[in-house]
Amino acid sequence: MSAQIIYGKQISDTIREELLHEVEQLKQQGVTPGLVVILVGEDPASQVYVRNKAKACEQLGYHSEVIRVPAETTQDELLALITKYNEQQNIHGILVQLPLPKHIEEKAIIDAISVEKDVDGFHPESVGNLMIGDDALLPCTPSGVIELLKRTGNSPAGKHAVVIGRSNIVGKPVAMLLLRENATVTICHSRTPNISEIARQADILVVGVGVPKLVKKDWVKPGAVVIDVGVNRLLDGKLCGDVDYDDVLDVAGWITPVPGGVGPMTITMLMANTLKSAKKARG
Ligand code: NAP
Repeated sequence: MSAQIIYGKQISDTIREELLHEVEQLKQQGVTPGLVVILVGEDPASQVYVRNKAKACEQLGYHSEVIRVPAETTQDELLALITKYNEQQNIHGILVQLPLPKHIEEKAIIDAISVEKDVDGFHPESVGNLMIGDDALLPCTPSGVIELLKRTGNSPAGKHAVVIGRSNIVGKPVAMLLLRENATVTICHSRTPNISEIARQADILVVGVGVPKLVKKDWVKPGAVVIDVGVNRLLDGKLCGDVDYDDVLDVAGWITPVPGGVGPMTITMLMANTLKSAKKARG
């Protein structure tokens, strides 16, 4: 039997409607959520992401600022910009679009963002809070994965979840969130032997690797939930995930398509984080 498709766009639209309702309530109390996105240089993919973030802000009625600075901007100039927005009261979220030009140290920039406004969830204190289970702004793509699971009735509690990939922005936080949701979690990476065997034991398989169509049907337990975080551009210009979607479709119980699965959730969770931060600032 063919897997049920998890349409991230639909789920993301539902969440945005819920957010809109909350934003209206907050505005009645005199607070408008504010997000600033800082883009250094002219990377074409980053330009698209930044435009989409600004569009989402407009749709939800947020105050939005997009600051575009040239690729030659120095680290000190960028840090000064962050200090300015750390102090600016109508801004509740600061996002510096990654990747940054090579002469700027990414860690120094992430560390400089006030943890209260760290809507990307990459600040070491946010990561620490996630680890110890304290309240935190959670990284957007990983929390989007958890929303997709919960909102399709696939609660991670008591399940064996296998995460392939251990990056700081996808694999590790996804694994930590699954653990927090009471899954039993196994993390695999490029040095893991027999990955297909481990993957085949998963009730929930989350893949964030960056290798097109790595996961085949013999990696998947019949009926498993397969969440594909990967986004890869093929030579013909089409996008595909890290899961061989057509191959796995008949084995999995649930599956996310690429595009249209995890992708649409990321900006929506960024909007949710900005709202959360605005509510916190309101007290
Ligand atoms: P990354 O930093 O390059 O990390 C990739 C991870 O995959 C590493 O942990 C690596 O292991 C592991 N890996 C690489 N090849 C492997 C293999 N053959 N078998 C098993 N593990 C392997 O990538 P990332 O930033 O996490 O992104 C992963 C994918 O998610 C990319 O396609 C990216 O475009 C996509 N992504 C999508 C969204 C979204 O919004 N949908 C957001 C972020 C990322 P080692 O640690 O051992 O090197």
